[in-house]
Amino acid sequence: MFKKPIHITISFSVIGCSIILVLLLVFSDVGFGISSLIAMAIGGLIFIVSQWVLDKFIFERMNLILDKLLNITYERRVLKLLDDPFELIDSKVNTYLEKQEKEEETLNEQQNFRREYIGNIAHELKTPIFTTQGYILTLLDGGLEDERINRDYLRRADKSIERIIDLLDDLDLITKLDSGEFPLEYETFDLIQLVREVFDALELTAKERNITVAFRTSPKKQIFVDADRNRIYQVISNLVVNAIKYGKEGGSVDVGFNTMSDQIVHIEVIDDGHGISDENLLKVFQRFYRVDKSGGRKQGGSGLGLSIVKHIVEAHGQSMNVNSKVGVGSTFSFTLKLA
Ligand code: ATP
Ligand code: MG
Repeated sequence: MFKKPIHITISFSVIGCSIILVLLLVFSDVGFGISSLIAMAIGGLIFIVSQWVLDKFIFERMNLILDKLLNITYERRVLKLLDDPFELIDSKVNTYLEKQEKEEETLNEQQNFRREYIGNIAHELKTPIFTTQGYILTLLDGGLEDERINRDYLRRADKSIERIIDLLDDLDLITKLDSGEFPLEYETFDLIQLVREVFDALELTAKERNITVAFRTSPKKQIFVDADRNRIYQVISNLVVNAIKYGKEGGSVDVGFNTMSDQIVHIEVIDDGHGISDENLLKVFQRFYRVDKSGGRKQGGSGLGLSIVKHIVEAHGQSMNVNSKVGVGSTFSFTLKLA
């Protein structure tokens, strides 16, 4: 009955009005007409006073609490007359609780992610640190005087330290990418020239696996794009290194370009390696993800390369894609804005 404020105040006024009317009729000589007028006037007064009391002592305070608790303030006029305030509060509190629950879930996910992330970092660092320590201990144990191994072991220890530095550089970059503290230095440059530089730098790596690295079709012209040159170098270099590492011994790696419109160029790095299964295809962009966890050691990757590549491409407002077939090969591609 007293669900809405208007019900309460009207009920009070009607009850008050009736009592006054009965009292006037029983205890006074005033006629029915005048008695009704007086009772109605007093009823009106009760309506105004109870409305004021409700407003002052209930809704005003309730709003203070709601303000603090849920950061919401009701439109009091609407609340007073038309709504069931408790129904409104109930729905608001439910929404608030749902939001809290979601926030808690996200927080838990973030905590798990952080735990896993730190675990992965520790795991990746362990191998090169223990390897370095192993060489140093052997040298201290008399190896230093042994001309046959001393230089070789020092060189190997240095290689392991280089690996630690590479890993730390990758982690540093990922942290910057995550915190948005990653200013891109846009410039206009020739993409073909940049890919040639990548080919030159990786010539020896490709030779080790007897892989031919080339343009898919001989590019006749230059392709000018607007992007951060150093970062795009990193993207293409990472993709070509992967294509060589996971490509077929004696196979080929091709880089192709498609100008999709007069605004966008599509760059593809194609290999004829062992490919990636559908279930692993999207995961390869996750940090530390390696398809072949045991065999990966041989090739020495930490599984950060593609996540950095994707981050850089997306920081340019562009997209990254992959197509692959087990036993046939993979194509990693991304887009860039033409200058
Ligand atoms: P890093 O690049 O950090 O040195 P990584 O090469 O293992 O290490 P990513 O480049 O992120 O890491 O690649 C993740 C995984 O995806 C690789 O371990 C590999 O299993 C798979 N992968 C990447 N590129 C290819 C490819 N061209 N063909 C087949 N598998 C690939
Ligand atoms: Mg890689």
